[in-house]
Amino acid sequence: MREILAKILYLFYYFKVHQESKRTDSVLSIYGHDISRKNFEELVKWLLKRNYKFITPYELEDYLCGKLPCNKKYVWMSFDDGWRSNYENVFPVLKKYAVPATIFVATKGIEDGYFWFDKAFENRDSQYYDEIQELWEMQNSKRVEIISKLPYEMTVRKTMIPAELKEMTESGLVYWGNHTDDHVMSDNCTDEELATEIMICQEKMKRWTGVDCNFIYSYPNGNIDDRSEKTIKNLGFKMATTTELNRICPDTDIFRIPRMEFKDVSLTENILHIYGIWTPFFNRIKRMLGIKNKK
Ligand SMILES: [Zn+2]
Repeated sequence: MREILAKILYLFYYFKVHQESKRTDSVLSIYGHDISRKNFEELVKWLLKRNYKFITPYELEDYLCGKLPCNKKYVWMSFDDGWRSNYENVFPVLKKYAVPATIFVATKGIEDGYFWFDKAFENRDSQYYDEIQELWEMQNSKRVEIISKLPYEMTVRKTMIPAELKEMTESGLVYWGNHTDDHVMSDNCTDEELATEIMICQEKMKRWTGVDCNFIYSYPNGNIDDRSEKTIKNLGFKMATTTELNRICPDTDIFRIPRMEFKDVSLTENILHIYGIWTPFFNRIKRMLGIKNKK
C-alpha cells in the first residue's frame, strides 16, 4: 500500500523531483538511522547517477564559509546514533562507491549495545510513565532515574562496536560527530549536564577511533533551544545540525544546519523524502483531517 502511494505521489510530483534534482543553489542535506543495504545502495546509486558530489563535514564548513564553489550539486549525508546497520549495511556501500558519510554517535549505546529508548520501548507498560513520549520531554536527571529502574535483557545487539568504529575511521570515508553519551535531549539538560554528556562522548570516541569528535554536533531528536546552542558554541564546536527539514543554503546558520530524513523504505519513497515532498504532503492531509502530529 505504502509503495503504491509512493509511486502515485512520485508521478504527481514528477516535475518537482526533476527540478529539485537539478538544483545547484544549495546543498542537499540528508540523514538516516537504521537502513537495509538494498535501500541504501539504491539511494546512493540514484544520487551518483545524477552527478551529486558527496561532501565531508569539513567541505560543508568550507561551503558555509564561502570557500567551496557554489555552482555544483553537493550532497551531505549523515547518520544519527550509531546503529549496527551503519557498519553492516552502510559501510560496504560507502566503500563500493567511495563516498563519505558523517556519523553522529551516542557513545553509551555503543557500550551497552542498545539505547535507553530501546529499553523504554521494551518496558512500555511500565508503572513509571503513561507514555514513552513523557521520557523525551522530562528533565534529564528524572529520565535517567526512571530508565535505571527498568529491566532489560538484550537479545540482539542494536549498535556498532568500538572495533568497527576504528575500521570505519581507517577507511577515510567515515567522519564522526558528537551526539552526546546517553542520547540526551539537549534542552532537558542543565548546562553542566549537557557539557558533561558531550565531553564523555568526545573522550570515548577519541579512545575508540583516535580522532576528535568535537567538530560537529547533532542535537539528539532535533531538540534545540538558545541555551543548549550557547553551550555547544562554548564547547568549541564549529557546526551543529538539527532535524529541521530543509536544504543547506550559503546563508544557513552554521549551528542550525537542517537535514532531510531518508528511511528504510523504497527508492521511490526516499526520493520524495530527500526532496521534502513526502512529509509536508502528509502533514497537509493530516491537518485537513484534523489529526494532530506527534512530536
Ligand atoms: Zn539520535
